[in-house]
Amino acid sequence: MNGYFDHNATTPLHPAARDAWLRASEKHWHNPSSLYRDAGMASQRLEAARERLGLLLGVEAERIVFTSGATESNNALLATFPKDARILFSGIEHPSVTQPAWYWMQQDPSLPVTSGGVVDLAAAKEKIQVAIKDRPSIVSLMAANNESGALQPWKELAVLCHENGVLFHTDASQWLGKLDAEGLGMCDFITGSAHKFGGPKGVGFLVVADSTAYQRLGPRFLQGGPQESGRRAGTENYPAIEAMVTALETITPRLSQIQNDQSQRRDAFIAAMRSRFEGLRIISEDAPRLWNTVLMVMPAHHNLKWLTALSRRGFSISTGSACSSGREGSSVVVTALGAGGDELKRVVRVSGGWESTGADWEALAAAFGDAFDELNRGGRPQ
Ligand code: PMP
Repeated sequence: MNGYFDHNATTPLHPAARDAWLRASEKHWHNPSSLYRDAGMASQRLEAARERLGLLLGVEAERIVFTSGATESNNALLATFPKDARILFSGIEHPSVTQPAWYWMQQDPSLPVTSGGVVDLAAAKEKIQVAIKDRPSIVSLMAANNESGALQPWKELAVLCHENGVLFHTDASQWLGKLDAEGLGMCDFITGSAHKFGGPKGVGFLVVADSTAYQRLGPRFLQGGPQESGRRAGTENYPAIEAMVTALETITPRLSQIQNDQSQRRDAFIAAMRSRFEGLRIISEDAPRLWNTVLMVMPAHHNLKWLTALSRRGFSISTGSACSSGREGSSVVVTALGAGGDELKRVVRVSGGWESTGADWEALAAAFGDAFDELNRGGRPQ
């Protein structure tokens, strides 16, 4: 039985990614910027990995800047805009968008979210179509939400932005490796993170608008070296990049089958939970969602109690997003939906993986039932 249901926090390293990492580390560990032959080999492979990732994402390889992960990519993008640039984003964005937006541009979320946990397209349209002088410089909308799994209308918003001469960024960290990347290439900026799709931690990328548009923006986030065509200083982590690209290449052909099988398992889990728990609330239940994610407000007991009781039964779940776990009232999404204090403390998220079986999901629902009995008795049996 595999009780790991926290794949939105991080995923285990895919065996193909591990092999690719080991091979690259053994043979091509040289600094790709050095000038001798072995370094040239590493550089060539790095550029080949960039090409391969470009094919998977549907973007020109030159648009890809390798980074240390999604947090860096989001920070690098927002730090690059001038202080007085205007950015539109919603309250359900990841903190690595909302906090830099405040830090560098002193801007709060301004795109409304519907009660279904999805950005309100009509309201966004009005805000984007304002007079040229008030028009935002960039709109940022995540592709899929990390807590609820709700898919966001990024395609529609990208088109709307382009019709109005506004740049569009999507944080696709939770989308990539779970759903097809088709159409992503039309976004001016795309954030991705390897450890969300079976790659290693500490590596990711930012796809930038054609390099001249990025070049015209302000100073780089990381300065000090000419790597990544002067767009990100620091020695490229070629073995990790190779492993990241291999992970995405390995998973991509399986995606539609996985989506089909896993969403049925996820739905059976929801049905089992509903029959056991009266008053269970599923966030974004009516919105299209990632096949692996269920964000729930439990009818009773605080989420850390649930987490501990399930952990003792061999299941790993979370209380909202990992970035704010450890705190009971931590869900960015449920807060943005205006939930009250005690409800917030009852939020739990489960996020299955590519290899979760029907039996794993069934065992998870059964473990929730057992944990409930235990918590109702007042805690752990003596
Ligand atoms: N954006 C989203 C949507 C995420 O889910 C996460 C990880 N929770 C991040 C950004 C940060 O990713 P990383 O760990 O690669 O910095």
